[in-house]
Amino acid sequence: MKIINHRLCKDDGTPYPYKESPNKGARLQAKYLIMHFTAGSSCRSSLEWLCNPDADASAHLLICRDGSVTQLVSFDTIAWHAGRSLWQGLDGMNKYSIGIEIDNVGAITRDTDGWHPWFHKPPYPNPKFPPLPEDQVLTNTPHRFYPDMKNWQRYSKEQLDVALEIATLLVQTYKLQDILGHEDITRKTSRKTDPGPAFSLDTFRAKAYSSPAAAAEVAAPESASIASTIYTVVVDSLNIRGGPNKEYDTIGKPLTRGTRVQVLETSEENPRWKKVDVLSDDRLGWVNSDPLSGPPTLQKSS
Ligand SMILES: [Zn+2]
Repeated sequence: MKIINHRLCKDDGTPYPYKESPNKGARLQAKYLIMHFTAGSSCRSSLEWLCNPDADASAHLLICRDGSVTQLVSFDTIAWHAGRSLWQGLDGMNKYSIGIEIDNVGAITRDTDGWHPWFHKPPYPNPKFPPLPEDQVLTNTPHRFYPDMKNWQRYSKEQLDVALEIATLLVQTYKLQDILGHEDITRKTSRKTDPGPAFSLDTFRAKAYSSPAAAAEVAAPESASIASTIYTVVVDSLNIRGGPNKEYDTIGKPLTRGTRVQVLETSEENPRWKKVDVLSDDRLGWVNSDPLSGPPTLQKSS
């Protein structure tokens, strides 16, 4: 397995199947890998959904139960998998992460004839909705954020093996800082459950980072320095422009008071101007942080 032009390829350079999703954003420089389950009724339906413009959702990769992999978005492009999310001062994790969806129904419930996912409809038994095979059932394993949810569909060995191979490759190629679950990065009020307790994230992370090359790459995490570059807009209206002076066109509406931005660089010719990444949307642009008249426009976030 290798990555060529931000596409996943086999050792001989043949790309994995690629079905482009329209649900994607601007350029991505990934720092994290986020793992998900689809909670879908089949891998095919999940693939269609993630490519449906009405879904407003996508991922970089989808892994079916047989271990087959489809890429939907290039690794250098933002996919829409994280939703509202936050991690170590980073707001909106789509802008910072590669997302892998794994075909898995998620939580299951027991009925008269066995275990069923959310999309099966009683009464049972119903030949249209056979219970999950027993070897796919994981019981009495509470979710760490939702202790009442204890029963889950297991991931297949094929899925876990290929996911680990891909994660190891992504960590090395993009020097990723960490592998997280969707459940880790969603806010308390709308906490997700994926990838859930059937996915041993700690073991997975340890294995993906176990190669000496990967361990060396991630020896110095950058998360502290990232958090320290977050600023808040402290004026009512601040233009964001395509370059570091007023001659450049504005990009969309002005930033409003309270908007959080990550300062990426300072202009060499005009150090008052900073290149910023707007945390609440996908805009990258330049702002005048310290006008000649009036107060500074940005204040460091604590
Ligand atoms: Zn998810």
